[in-house]
Amino acid sequence: MKRDLVCIICPRGCRMTAEITDSGVLVSGNACKRGEEYATAEMTAPKRTVTSIVRVSNRVDTMVSVKTKEPIPKEHIFDAMEKIRAVSVEAPVRIGDVIIENLFGTCIIATKDVK
Ligand code: SF4
Repeated sequence: MKRDLVCIICPRGCRMTAEITDSGVLVSGNACKRGEEYATAEMTAPKRTVTSIVRVSNRVDTMVSVKTKEPIPKEHIFDAMEKIRAVSVEAPVRIGDVIIENLFGTCIIATKDVK
């Protein structure tokens, strides 16, 4: 399998080609090692940062924005969204507060203050 990718690690945005071969993932077009690592991960175990919102139970019509602290495996995104949808928090909430612990190897944290 061969794919064209744009590296998102830095603003340079190198256009890369990655191919899975018998000897591993061959990457070309990257200007540095980080691009090779990104392309290899995209070809073998892609991860994404999930962002969403959580209801604040003691504030009318108020939501707090949240995200995964680290990217999670792409195949778990829908499960993560269901777990996020199922929770609510009570204000006050501070940026960085853990909203859900231990979710697919990371946690869900608040990205906004709610007083
Ligand atoms: S390959 Fe390196 S230089 Fe190119 S976009 Fe990725 S991180 Fe930046």
